Amino acid sequence: MIPLADRFGRVATDLRVSLTDRCNLRCTYCMPEEGLAWMPREQQLTDDEVGRLIRIAVEMLGVRDVRFTGGEPLLRRGLVGIVRAAASLSPRPDLMLTTNGIGLERLAGPLREAGLDRVNVSLDTLDPVRFQALTRRDRLDDVLRGLAAAAAAGLTPVKINTVLMRGINDDEAPALLRFALDHGYQLRFIEQMPLDAQHQWDRHTMVTADEILASLSPYGLLPDLVSRGTAPAETWLVPGHVDAAGEPARVGVIGSVTRPFCGDCDRTRLTADGQVRDCLFAREESDLRKLLRDGAPDAEVAEAWRVAMSGKRAGHGIDDPAFLQPTRPMSAIGG
Ligand code: SAM
Repeated sequence: MIPLADRFGRVATDLRVSLTDRCNLRCTYCMPEEGLAWMPREQQLTDDEVGRLIRIAVEMLGVRDVRFTGGEPLLRRGLVGIVRAAASLSPRPDLMLTTNGIGLERLAGPLREAGLDRVNVSLDTLDPVRFQALTRRDRLDDVLRGLAAAAAAGLTPVKINTVLMRGINDDEAPALLRFALDHGYQLRFIEQMPLDAQHQWDRHTMVTADEILASLSPYGLLPDLVSRGTAPAETWLVPGHVDAAGEPARVGVIGSVTRPFCGDCDRTRLTADGQVRDCLFAREESDLRKLLRDGAPDAEVAEAWRVAMSGKRAGHGIDDPAFLQPTRPMSAIGG
């Protein structure tokens, strides 16, 4: 095994696999109302191709964690089979899914049975009217049922990802934390990043990690002394509360913009069309699909993946005056 190392000494062991660029929501900060020009099916990796790349990553490149994402990964027909194949690998990777929760009510059980370990469900508001305005779909109840089904299926700890936007839902942090504490879910706030298809992100209006923490001050959060390791979320303890496992309850903040964690990044990304990206904000990609379809042996694919990761930049460069938003939006990279 030769790992995915870069010239700054980082080693990628966490693989994010996008299974589709399609989504059934139209979150205003992610996609335009009419959707995007979806990737043609023939460009998308087949289930077998996805399975092969995950196997190469785990067996030959030292990947230990695999997270399925998108677009909306629950829209991928072969998802349960892809999870089952990944769970049969040795060493067995930790398997996670990031989803908007629509359809999770039906799929949580089969996914758990196939070997999925945990889920992160995205939820930005508990208000049905706001949910409709934010996602342009009336599906809040589906998401809430999906969360409950995930917990019941044992996909725990169930985490909730929330993006706060000024003047839209930035007053909801305390209520979302209350909801998470009441249900035993772990809440994490994510700073909004310049990855929207519409290129409307504005540094001056985004809600910062400091502001998020200030709005949670009524909870009297305490610093979490457990090391964060390579996890993107900084966590705080919520005094007087325990999680579903009886551990002290925590809340996380992913300060991707104002508190970047690039120095500890252990991520490698695969798009639904088989391109390796060394960073969410990468402007270059390496085409593994072509190698697969040209009949390259595993060792050649693995080496191309190593080369792709070796050039990873020190940081995402959002603060660099020369920063350019990547061509692909978040939904086509895999969030
Ligand atoms: N559809 C799945 C979901 O909703 O979780 C997976 C893909 S979605 C792109 C992954 C996460 O990225 C979601 O939590 C979403 O809120 C977040 N996201 C999308 N655009 C973002 C942006 N510009 N900045 C920060 N997070 C963003």
